[in-house]
Amino acid sequence: MFEIEGIAASPGICIGTVYVHGSHQPKIPKYAIERADLSDELERLTAAVERAVEDIEEIKRVSTADLGGDEHRMLDTHLLMLRDPSLFEDARGRISDQLSNIEWILSEMTQELTAKLSDSPDPYLRERTADIHDVIRRVLGHLLKTDRPNLANLDREVIVVTHDLLPSDAVAMNKRMVAGIATDAGGKTSHTAIIARSFEIPAVLGLSDVANRVEEGDQIIVDGNAGVVVVDPDEETVQRYRRLEQAWQEHGLQLLGLNELPAETTDGKLIYLNGNIEIPEEVDGLTSHGADGVGLYRSEFLFLQPSELPTEEEQVAAYASVLEAIAPNPVTIRTLDVGGDKVSDTFTTHEEKNPILGWRAIRFCLEERAVFRTQLRALYRASTHGNLRIMFPMISGVHELNRVLEFTAEVREELRREGVDYRQDVPLGIMIEVPSAALISDVLARKVAFFSIGTNDLIQYTVAVDRGNEKTAYLYDPFHPAVLRLIRTVIDNGHGEGLSVAMCGEMAGDPIATLLLLGLGLDEFSMSAAGIPEVKRIIRSTSFLEAEELAGQIMDMRNAADINDALREVARDRLDLVMP
Ligand code: PEP
Ligand code: MG
Repeated sequence: MFEIEGIAASPGICIGTVYVHGSHQPKIPKYAIERADLSDELERLTAAVERAVEDIEEIKRVSTADLGGDEHRMLDTHLLMLRDPSLFEDARGRISDQLSNIEWILSEMTQELTAKLSDSPDPYLRERTADIHDVIRRVLGHLLKTDRPNLANLDREVIVVTHDLLPSDAVAMNKRMVAGIATDAGGKTSHTAIIARSFEIPAVLGLSDVANRVEEGDQIIVDGNAGVVVVDPDEETVQRYRRLEQAWQEHGLQLLGLNELPAETTDGKLIYLNGNIEIPEEVDGLTSHGADGVGLYRSEFLFLQPSELPTEEEQVAAYASVLEAIAPNPVTIRTLDVGGDKVSDTFTTHEEKNPILGWRAIRFCLEERAVFRTQLRALYRASTHGNLRIMFPMISGVHELNRVLEFTAEVREELRREGVDYRQDVPLGIMIEVPSAALISDVLARKVAFFSIGTNDLIQYTVAVDRGNEKTAYLYDPFHPAVLRLIRTVIDNGHGEGLSVAMCGEMAGDPIATLLLLGLGLDEFSMSAAGIPEVKRIIRSTSFLEAEELAGQIMDMRNAADINDALREVARDRLDLVMP
């Protein structure tokens, strides 16, 4: 028996039999080709790329009902790469320059690109390394005829152990037969981790050499809560983990048992727990996790697809489908938030030195009026299909908000003149994600129907830390007293004008923050589907008075480290949370 420590990438515990998935890197042959055979070699590449495209289209076709927004986006990215002439143009040039076989050229290119991108401080580029690796490995598989066995065909329950589970393999695998995942490579934000979490499969990644240290058929324990795997465990260890596994499963079942119950404190304060979605297909997950409604529909994902801008009709269809699925509960659709870290080829934005502080979200829409008009028309036209709320992102001041509200009124008037049916009473709200907006939220509150606090951006702008930069990630702290004071200001100012105040940043789904936010008076929490049951359990386990008391103590504390410690202690001792 031995243990290996890795990264706790997807929670849960499982005990099972190892299935070693193509853990050995294929041997890449190297040989020279004659100039006369050049066109044949190029033709081999074209054929292999075409087969890789077919593979991915097949994965999308077969598994479409199972896939969430992230997986769809990943597969679309892979298709885009395979169809992008520039990736393989370089390979073609090298074949004719070096007169080497295509397999060798591709493996050289993978190594170079991986070395270049994996050192990049930009997490977006590092993530692309995994995508490039995945795409090239798939093409190489066809060239070498060593395609890895298809995990879609698994017919018995196993724990998949591999050097590096390609995200496209993870998407395609028969999830009902995969009890757990253990890999040498990967981290918490890799696509494999995201997919494991969305399918609730326990996973430990970043184990360095697990694939070489196990054999097919070995018994193995994957503890995705602690980030540990135990290979060939003795009987006592198996029994210990069986108890933990059972406790974890019971905990999950108990949580799902709360689905039909309201998120209500013991002294009767009712909280709304909503879900965040990026694409309409995610709605089913919200319903199955007991969401009250949609608190944030990031509409920009309709615009980030590698195609033309969505037409008014396409937008009406997308918005109406979500509204109908959730009706009569509310759906908050956020208008286009492109720019900053959400770039798209569909829009030709100019190079900016500081895109995060630049031409993004509402700033973009107020200038690109045609795009904004089409979206607002589509939203109002869809409004008759359910309970719509429209939310504007990145509002930073009163003048800007006035312009937005005036333009929205113009669009309504236009629809009225055309005799188009729409709801007059759609509540208009704003995201509070810029400190200036938080500080004048008393003024803004008089002009809108609701606030939703976007902590992902609010934190980055408050402590001046790029939310995507790993080097400064240690400063990106939701519990910085400055952030907490802004949150309190927004809630108090919103309430002062009778507004409902929501939060849709990641902080809303962090169970460690739940009591504090509740105690500060937050009315609605919006998060990804899987987070809802735990937050509901916490809300139902406390009184509002207790939460207010805790919030009072926390707001008196002076530094983020003390606040973190205090909240973790409460989470462990009072809430029985499994802490990583
Ligand atoms: C936020 O900033 O908290 C938010 C929810 O918006 P996004 O993450 O899409 O920027
Ligand atoms: Mg934001």
